[in-house]
Amino acid sequence: MPQNDTPARQLLIDGKWVDPIEGGTIASYDPSTGELLANLAAAGPKDVEAAVQAARRAFDDGPWRTMPAEQRARILHRFADLIEENADEIALIDTQDCGKPYAFIRDIDLPNMADLLRYMAGWTTKLEGRTIPLSRQSPSDFLSYTRRQPVGVVAQIIPWNGAALASIWKLAPALAAGCTVVLKPAELASLAPLKIGALAMEAGFPAGVVNVITGSGQDAGAPLAGHPAVDKVAFTGSVGTGKSIVASAADNLSKMTLELGGKSPVVIYDDADLDKAVDGALGAVLYAQGEACTAGSRLYVQRGIFDDVQARIAAAVPELKIGDSRERGVLVGPLISDNHRSKVMGFIDGAVKEGAEVIAGGDGPHGPGYYLAPTVLGGVHDDMMVAREEIFGPVVSLMPFDTEEEVIRRANDTTFGLAAGVWTSDIGRAHRYADKVNAGAVWINCYNVFDAALPFGGFKHSGWGKEMGEEALDSYLQSKAITVAIS
Ligand code: NAD
Repeated sequence: MPQNDTPARQLLIDGKWVDPIEGGTIASYDPSTGELLANLAAAGPKDVEAAVQAARRAFDDGPWRTMPAEQRARILHRFADLIEENADEIALIDTQDCGKPYAFIRDIDLPNMADLLRYMAGWTTKLEGRTIPLSRQSPSDFLSYTRRQPVGVVAQIIPWNGAALASIWKLAPALAAGCTVVLKPAELASLAPLKIGALAMEAGFPAGVVNVITGSGQDAGAPLAGHPAVDKVAFTGSVGTGKSIVASAADNLSKMTLELGGKSPVVIYDDADLDKAVDGALGAVLYAQGEACTAGSRLYVQRGIFDDVQARIAAAVPELKIGDSRERGVLVGPLISDNHRSKVMGFIDGAVKEGAEVIAGGDGPHGPGYYLAPTVLGGVHDDMMVAREEIFGPVVSLMPFDTEEEVIRRANDTTFGLAAGVWTSDIGRAHRYADKVNAGAVWINCYNVFDAALPFGGFKHSGWGKEMGEEALDSYLQSKAITVAIS
């Protein structure tokens, strides 16, 4: 495997690697072993100021947004090439840092990242406006047209789960639109975003177009989100932080997109192909040990097949390979930190106190590293905490249902609305579910299928706006209406 040579102690500001002004560091640990991985530079408000001003200058003075679109596309394509050339190394860095199994990052995230950069590069030459005839004027007297222009300087704040993927989901549409960016990764996993920042420099983005600052939410994230020279904030993370970011950006009326949490329902009907449905439903919740915003942590199984499905799941779960996220074949890596492991254990213990039963897992294997066996809970009711709150760990609640109407109502009985899955062979029932479920992504007889061209983003408290697809690009553009008197 390649060596991890990421620059770890500096910030990328205005095209240069610099030390933080106050000189602090934040320790970052490998969750598979609990060992120290790096000391990150701890940016503070002065570093935020420097990064925002660099992005501001790069936006206002060019040449990024004034560059011919084809040149911008070339740099984005070069960035995609570099991401591919360095895919093994990026995957290794990211897996060590956040514990998501190596194969998922290398074989799923990295190809999607290159695809998205190329997809967005294609849009740079197609940012067209419209010619609009005025209703009460003659077209011989007035010409009105729209132009689509970048929104400006963007603050992008991302979480620790899948930090490499999250970086590109944010950077690609912003850069294609002609924006300049200050990216702040999470303090628990910043190494892949730093490597991606280095590759952005190599790809040829002008100085100040891509800035990457590491630091805490309080000292770097909050001043960045509330900075008056920031035109848009694009945030991915928890609902609580999302709300505080909305509040801190309110004074500036910054544009905002939010990708927040989820509590996604997965439904298995009695006419489903059970081998595929059980595999799929386990993958839906256990992908990246449940540290995925789409985790299908509420599993509704039609009553006639409930015992069969429960038995299959109970038999399958202990067979899943848990271990160091770098090892090939590992499907369940460590949780991000000891703290987070305790929080997830708290959900399991709380559910048991409320009357749930542990069907598989429940604890261990114990460290070093922050592991938790995939846990299946039975006897869960819709009003228990474990069925209502995002867990962000490998824990699924198995619940029986009887009718279609009932399961759709229960699936929608949540403040979240990120994703939903259904397994059935009845095509009408599948589409009725897709129509009625309040979620931004619906998967029928599959789960977690993402594509650069497909918009992804939540309803309700799961967020505002989309990642990927044309809609993501739109959120970094604004239309200007221009009218010329021509008579
Ligand atoms: P978090 O909200 O704790 O932190 C996210 C980022 O915000 C980090 O970079 C953090 O430093 C920063 N931050 C924290 N406080 C801040 C503040 N007051 N002002 C500005 N920035 C601040 O989330 P997390 O624990 O890192 O990530 C897990 C959450 O992310 C889960 O809820 C998950 O569902 C969500 N998520 C959503 C998606 C999606 O696409 N919808 C994708 C991945 C993760």
